[in-house]
Amino acid sequence: MQYDYDVIAIGGGSGGLSVVERAVEYGKKCAVVEANKMGGTCVNVGCVPKKIMWFGSHIAEALRDASDFGFHVEQKGFDWGKLVEQRENLIGNITEWYAGYFDELGIDVLEGWGRFVDKHTIEVAGREFTAESIVVAPGGKPFIPNETENAELGLTSDGFFALKEQPKKVAVIGSGYIAVEIAGVLQALGTDTTLISRKDLVLRGFDDMIRETLTDAMIESGVKKEYHFKVKKLAKAEDGTVIVESEDGQHLQGFDEVIWAVGRETVTEPLGLENVGLSVNGKGYLDVDDFHQTAVPNIYAIGDVTGQAQLTPVAIRAGRYLAERLYNNQPHLKMDLSKVPTVIFSHPPVGTMGLAEHEARAQYGHDNVQVYSSVFTPMRNAFTAHQVKTALKLVCAGEEQTVVGLHIVGEGADEMLQGFAVAVQMGATKADLDATIAIHPTSSEELVTMRPMILK
Ligand SMILES: Cc1cc2nc3c(=O)[nH]c(=O)nc-3n(C[C@H](O)[C@H](O)[C@H](O)COP(=O)(O)OP(=O)(O)OC[C@H]3O[C@@H](n4cnc5c(N)ncnc54)[C@H](O)[C@@H]3O)c2cc1C
Repeated sequence: MQYDYDVIAIGGGSGGLSVVERAVEYGKKCAVVEANKMGGTCVNVGCVPKKIMWFGSHIAEALRDASDFGFHVEQKGFDWGKLVEQRENLIGNITEWYAGYFDELGIDVLEGWGRFVDKHTIEVAGREFTAESIVVAPGGKPFIPNETENAELGLTSDGFFALKEQPKKVAVIGSGYIAVEIAGVLQALGTDTTLISRKDLVLRGFDDMIRETLTDAMIESGVKKEYHFKVKKLAKAEDGTVIVESEDGQHLQGFDEVIWAVGRETVTEPLGLENVGLSVNGKGYLDVDDFHQTAVPNIYAIGDVTGQAQLTPVAIRAGRYLAERLYNNQPHLKMDLSKVPTVIFSHPPVGTMGLAEHEARAQYGHDNVQVYSSVFTPMRNAFTAHQVKTALKLVCAGEEQTVVGLHIVGEGADEMLQGFAVAVQMGATKADLDATIAIHPTSSEELVTMRPMILK
C-alpha cells in the first residue's frame, strides 16, 4: 500500500523532532504534527527558559559575593521583565528558525492535534494523513492535584515562565528537581521563597549525600523549608495574596504566587489511542519494548510519554535510534538507560549518574559496594561570607570496583559531570580514576584523588 509518508511523528518536541530529522537523512518522507509551539517542552517551557533563569540567578550570586573579592558594587535593582523578555526573544528565535530548517530538510509540518483514525492514518485539523510508521511523542504537562481545594489558585512551571513581574513572596510546593530549581532561582533573584513538601529532604530517590547537602544549602541560602506539610487547600486572602493550608490545620500566608511542582502527567487524551487498540498503563504511560515499539507493530512511542528517564537527551537518543533501526539497517540498536547522567540546576547544582549508594548496596549486596566521598568548601567560597559546600561520592561495585554511581553537588557540578559520564559509560573502575592525573586547582580533581587503590 502507498502511504503519504514513511513516518509521521506526533509531537514536535525533543523526541518527535529527532526521529524525523534522522529519518529524512535516509531519504524518507517525513511529517511532524504539532499542536502548540515547535520545540515542545524543552525549548518553550523547560530546559531552555529554566537555564536562562538559572544563569540570571547565578549572576545575582556573583554580585552577592563580589564585595568579598574586593569589588565595590552597588546593586541598583534587578529588572525581571528584561530578563524574561531577553529569554523569550531567544526562544522566539529558536522556534522561528525551525520553519526554515524544516523547509530545507523537506519535512512537512502539520499544525494541529494529531488523532489516530486507524493504525496507519491520523487526522489533523480535519485532514487525514497516512504513514507506514507513526511515532507518538506527545510529552507531558504539569500535574495539578485536583483533590486540593482551590488548587487552580496555584501556578505550575508553565505559569512560572509566564510571569512578567517578579513576585515578592512565593511558595513552591514539591521537592523534585523542578521544585528545587524554581525555588533556587526565585530565592537567588530576591524573592522571599518557601519550599513546601511532605518530606524533610528534597529529591526523593537520589543519593542521600545529594539530598542532605542540597537541602542544607537551600536553607542556608534563605529558602524557608516547610516539611511534613501536606497541602489541603489554597485560599485567597482579602489583599489578594494566597494562603496555603495543611491537612493538620497550619496556615502559611501572604504569597503573591503559589507554584505547584509536584510532577507531570502525559498528554495522551487527544491521540485517540482507543482507535488503534492502545491504552496507557496505570501510571499514564505508553508501554513500549526495548525498541520503543508499542503493542501495535507500526506504532512507536518515545520521550516522556514512555515514562523512561524524562530528559531531553533521552528522548532525542530514542528518536535517533528508532530511525537508525527502521531506516539504516541497525535493528539491534538499543538504549542503555542504566547510566543516564543528569544535572539539576539547583543552587549549588547537582550532577549525578548511575546508582545511588542505597540502590547499589541493594543490587550488588551491602559488602560488595565501596563508597568514596568527600565534603569540602570549594576555593570559590574559601573566604566569602556566604558559604556553600561541595560534596562528591563515588559508588563502586564488585572486585574490580567498577564505578556504578557518581554524585556531585557543588559549584561547577553541571559542567563537571559530562566528561566523567564518558568514563563511567565505558566501565571505568576506581583504579582508572586513580590513574588519571588531577587538574589543579579544581573541585573535580577530588574525584580522581580519593583514597588511591593499586594503580594500573
Ligand atoms: C521546567 C522543566 C525543566 C526541564 N529541564 C530539563 C533539563 O534541564 N534537561 C533535560 O534534559 N530535560 C529537562 N526537562 C524535561 C524535558 O523537557 C523533557 O524530557 C522533554 O521535553 C521530553 O520530550 P518529548 O518529545 O517527550 O515531549 P515534549 O518536549 O513535551 O514535546 C511534546 C510535544 O507534543 C505536542 N503534542 C502533544 N500531543 C499532541 C498531539 N496529539 N498532536 C500534536 N501535538 C501534540 C506538544 O504540544 C509538545 O510540543 C524539563 C522539563 C520541565 C517541565
